[in-house]
Amino acid sequence: MHCPFCGATDTKVIDSRLVADGHQVRRRRQCLACAERYTTFETAELVMPRVIKTNGNREPFDEEKLRGGIQRALEKRPVSADDIEKAINSIKSRLRATGEREIGSAMVGNLVMEALKELDKVAYIRFASVYHSFEDIREFGEEIARLQK
Ligand SMILES: [Zn+2]
Repeated sequence: MHCPFCGATDTKVIDSRLVADGHQVRRRRQCLACAERYTTFETAELVMPRVIKTNGNREPFDEEKLRGGIQRALEKRPVSADDIEKAINSIKSRLRATGEREIGSAMVGNLVMEALKELDKVAYIRFASVYHSFEDIREFGEEIARLQK
C-alpha cells in the first residue's frame, strides 16, 4: 500500500507478528521515501455464511451485530476487550467451519451462549434470558442451578 504520509509506494516491513490469537498479522512498516513508520493489520478474507432468521429471511452475517450483543451482555463485567475479540473470532471460525452457505440464526445464538458461558456466567444468564426469553421463573432458576454445579 502507499505510504499514508507521503504516498510513496516503496515501503519495507520492519516487524511482523501474529496477533488476535494468530488470526491477524500486524506489520510495522517504514516508508523508504520519507522514513515515516506505520502499522498495518492483515486478516484473511473468508466468506461467512448467510444467516437465516426465524422468519425465513436471509441476511449477511453481521459481525458488528454479534459484537454488540456480546458487549451488551458483558456490560460492566470484568472481561477484557481482548477476550471478547477472541470469542468473536472463535465464533466466526466455527461458523465458517460448518462449510454451509447459510446457517440458522439459532446456531449463532447458541455459539454466543457457549462463548459467554466460558467468559462470564452473569453475562451468559443475561444473554440467555433475553435470547430464550425463559418461559417462567422456574426454568430460569433451573438454568442457574445447572450453572452452579
Ligand atoms: Zn512516506
